Amino acid sequence: MTDTFIVAGAGFAGAKAVETLREEGFDGRLILIGDEHERPYERPPLSKDYLRGDAERETIYVHPERFYAEHDVDVRLGRRAVELDLGARELVLDDGEWLHYDRLLLATGAEPRRLAIAGAQLDGVLYLRSVADCDALRERFDRGGSVVVVGAGWIGSEVAASARTRGLDVTVLEPQAVPLERVLGPELGAVYRDIHLDHGVRMRLGTGVEAFEGAGAVERVRTSAGDTIDCDFAVVGIGVRPRTELAERAGIATGDGILADEQLRTSAPEVFAAGDAVSAQHPFYGERIRVEHWANALEQGPAAARNMLGREQPYERLPYFFSDQYDVGMEYTGYAPTWDRVVFRGDPAAREFIAFWLAGDHVVAGMNVNVWDVVDPIQRLIRERVTVDDRRLADPGVPLDALVPAEAS
Ligand SMILES: Cc1cc2nc3c(=O)[nH]c(=O)nc-3n(C[C@H](O)[C@H](O)[C@H](O)COP(=O)(O)OP(=O)(O)OC[C@H]3O[C@@H](n4cnc5c(N)ncnc54)[C@H](O)[C@@H]3O)c2cc1C
Repeated sequence: MTDTFIVAGAGFAGAKAVETLREEGFDGRLILIGDEHERPYERPPLSKDYLRGDAERETIYVHPERFYAEHDVDVRLGRRAVELDLGARELVLDDGEWLHYDRLLLATGAEPRRLAIAGAQLDGVLYLRSVADCDALRERFDRGGSVVVVGAGWIGSEVAASARTRGLDVTVLEPQAVPLERVLGPELGAVYRDIHLDHGVRMRLGTGVEAFEGAGAVERVRTSAGDTIDCDFAVVGIGVRPRTELAERAGIATGDGILADEQLRTSAPEVFAAGDAVSAQHPFYGERIRVEHWANALEQGPAAARNMLGREQPYERLPYFFSDQYDVGMEYTGYAPTWDRVVFRGDPAAREFIAFWLAGDHVVAGMNVNVWDVVDPIQRLIRERVTVDDRRLADPGVPLDALVPAEAS
């Protein structure tokens, strides 16, 4: 009898996991289940070039269509896994089919948080997670007019940038004082605020949304400041929540995500988890972290696959993500729930700089903005917990490599 491995969730992490299982020689039965009707695709273009109409549909997919048949992957699209019986090692799909597994990977991702306020159900109040959401938004972009973006996190900020680039009239509502404040803090949030202001976005900061109003379709947004903003449609980007229901109902430990150990194994020994859905013990940080970014899905899917094959390798990559808004590209590496101060190398006003977040005398995160090929030395500074001197860190004349002791590099 050959083994059966099932991957529940046909997103980026799931697709990279099945690819790795075959690459690593798994020759048993392999089933990939996804509740969307599309084969696995990457989401970053959905707020950037694909949303603006600058990229072809075919460019978003993880694999060419023929990949799955060529690698003998039984792909079930438009099928949701609804129940999991850990004792019998069976997964139940929404059409009633029962599937036995020897190993299961939960790569169920995350879904947008929804607003529960008056008018939230009106036509034209949109969210962005799937390519179907994106196609609906693209169609609104094509019609032009005005949009209110609720939330200036990464998705809201990128949607605002794409909408402005397409010539729409854009207002951003954000309860915090600057965009992205929770992740980047006030200094870097101010940089992004100014980038949007320079491109003609109206930034209503320190202002939340109270209600959507209109007859059948949204026509205006009522703000926490008591005024209203007219719009043709609204996009809500207020964060995501991990999709843990399947695991939770089966009795697998969950918290802020499906809880897993360093090898991405859940509290059920034959069940692993990867991507946006998992909160995994991280060897470097000594705690569980959940990372909602592309590179994490890219690396954790394969890492979980190898551990499903018994390799017993801890997943220890440092978090990394990127964002593109207008002509400003950035990469962020590290994990900084708290920090003491931010040191800049280069001039933030010129939008070509590196920012370092420090805790005590060492760097906990770094972000390069329109500066490239520096992620490796930034990661070494973090990983080696190098004691840094703020002045040398800020001095573009001192190569970053020179800050890392020779024995650590
Ligand atoms: C618009 C947008 C832009 C982004 N831009 C960036 C960026 O610039 N940089 C960056 O680093 N990250 C970005 N991200 C984040 C990145 O795309 C995610 O981190 C990544 O998609 C996570 O992959 P995943 O496979 O874990 O989850 P997902 O991509 O969410 O895939 C999970 C899949 O599983 C399916 N599923 C869930 N439950 C079940 C079930 N019970 N049965 C069957 N199927 C199920 C879901 O429908 C989904 O298709 C962006 C995300 C979005 C939405």
